[in-house]
Amino acid sequence: ARLFGARENSRGIEFGDDAVRDAFLDSLAQAPLPKDAALPIIGGKTLTRPTRPVLSPVDGKSSVGEVGEATAEDARAAIETCLGAFPKWSATPAGARALALEKAADALEAATPRLIALMSAEAGKTLPDGIAEVREAVDFCRYYAAEARRLFGAATILPGPTGEENRLVSRGRGVFVCISPWNFPLAIFMGQVTAALASGNCVVAKPAEQTPLIAAEAVRILHEAGIAKDALAYVPGDGTVGAALTSDPRIAGVAFTGSTETAWAINRTLAEKRGPIVPLIAETGGLNAMLVDATALGEQVADDVVLSAFRSAGQRCSALRLLLVQEDIANHMIDLVTGAAKELTLGDPAHPATDVGPIIDAEAKQAIDDYVAERRTEGRVRFESEVPRGALAGGSFVAPTVIELANARDLTREVFGPVLHVVRYKAADLDKVLDDIAASGYGLTLGIHSRIERTCKRIVERLSVGNVYVNRNMIGAIVGSQPFGGSGLSGTGPKAGGPHYLPRFALEQVISTNT
Ligand code: GLU
Repeated sequence: ARLFGARENSRGIEFGDDAVRDAFLDSLAQAPLPKDAALPIIGGKTLTRPTRPVLSPVDGKSSVGEVGEATAEDARAAIETCLGAFPKWSATPAGARALALEKAADALEAATPRLIALMSAEAGKTLPDGIAEVREAVDFCRYYAAEARRLFGAATILPGPTGEENRLVSRGRGVFVCISPWNFPLAIFMGQVTAALASGNCVVAKPAEQTPLIAAEAVRILHEAGIAKDALAYVPGDGTVGAALTSDPRIAGVAFTGSTETAWAINRTLAEKRGPIVPLIAETGGLNAMLVDATALGEQVADDVVLSAFRSAGQRCSALRLLLVQEDIANHMIDLVTGAAKELTLGDPAHPATDVGPIIDAEAKQAIDDYVAERRTEGRVRFESEVPRGALAGGSFVAPTVIELANARDLTREVFGPVLHVVRYKAADLDKVLDDIAASGYGLTLGIHSRIERTCKRIVERLSVGNVYVNRNMIGAIVGSQPFGGSGLSGTGPKAGGPHYLPRFALEQVISTNT
């Protein structure tokens, strides 16, 4: 093992320091929400489209801002404009592209309170989640800037016989479509877009339907930082815009983060259309498990479980869904976990004391509530906390819930919210339990709490998941240190925030010259 690419990540905001924290809360309270509607931006021009309010999930009725969605025609026009911009953008030296990303990183840091206030209103992000999200977006910009210099700065000379020179160069593929999720509406949006741009591609970016406003801010910041106006288009909209983009034969690739269902649909669309065969970089869901054996430290496990399952209201694809506890300690562990879950404060995400904010929208809340109601009828719900009332009664809050199942195979679908499933296992059945986890077909994150090295090794070797966390929580992968992404039903790879991400956005060319 060797240390690779030592660099400093963004420092974020030190909440432990009272003065820093108070100043931050002040600037947050004064931060304005966007005045201008988020409208399609193509070739640097803002289009006029009918607008609708974006309603906050916090109370279900306040308007955070206005969005005017793109049409399928707009989506095609965006591709056309980006195609026209491609030769110039791809010929822009990697160092200049990197510099623009670094400027964007500085601008994001400077705008931190405003961005967090917006994400809190638009996506229900708590303050710690908002801080972590801006940091991650900044880290993506700086990391991919450094990677662009490393990978695209100069040709690699490969061996050959005397009289022959072999130069390997990497360059952009063309117009990349980036389709991002609402759960990391700034970080993942920026991650996809900056990776594609840094690699020399032009980008048509479609943010999640629920979070167009923060994405519009991100695009503004990127353009102001020096990303060519015509190299990055912004097309807010629903699935029809996504379908118009992915079915267009002129695109050079798709980066997608979201549900496995949508990834299948994109994969089908890409396979069926005529035209070049292009890459799909998909990061989807998980049925993420944590195994806890009898040697684990109870209190630490409880903290890590509650953080992994309930932080961000469980709306992370990395979140813990299935806790497998060795039978001997199961009752004690379930008591500790429910005891810690009881302490969580649900409420207004912009309030510093809030641990769990709302679910993204009423439709998502309904689906989770229905799922929990069924398990309640089956007598499987072991714990449910309370949702806020009063002014927030219309907000899409879902109470952190613990459900006990008889078998790991009983969990068949990802419930994207604060719902934790627990299953007891006998030490002698560990191999069968590992088979059950593997049978889900997902492979994103895995937690292990054990002080027996042999057990950890056996578990890691049996399960082909992308990110394994041992004796700690299992969310919040750090750019450059914990490249993130899985396999199977969880996605295609390569890992975001890792050294193999950018090459997938690029085209390799070998120039062999007879000298
Ligand atoms: N990278 C995030 C984490 O490690 C999860 C990303 C996602 O939910 O899409 O928690």
